[in-house]
Amino acid sequence: MHTCRSLIAELSAAGPDRALALLRELSRAAVGCAHAWPALHRVCDVVVGGEAFRVVRCAGCAERSIVERIRPEVARPDQPGVPCDLTGERLRRWVAAEEESPTKEDVDWDKWLA
Ligand SMILES: [Zn+2]
Repeated sequence: MHTCRSLIAELSAAGPDRALALLRELSRAAVGCAHAWPALHRVCDVVVGGEAFRVVRCAGCAERSIVERIRPEVARPDQPGVPCDLTGERLRRWVAAEEESPTKEDVDWDKWLA
């Protein structure tokens, strides 16, 4: 099982060909879950060789990451989602706060990572 940190480290270390093969493999093998936002949240979008993938993570499923194939036109590779570094108790606190009162604006992640 990949955490998003180990997945992104592996993708960065791989060349584009290996990264694309890994993303294809993971997206084919991806198993969804019954959770919804905010437990299930976008971490980042990755575009390689014209193919687009979304890395999501589920706080309700032991923080496992899931790779989904997405249409290239909806990919936002320059707009990161929930930071990989927000894990454990801090991640649970953010999920609880978001459930309680969803944020309408950009989240100040530094506040949650502190
Ligand atoms: Zn889940």
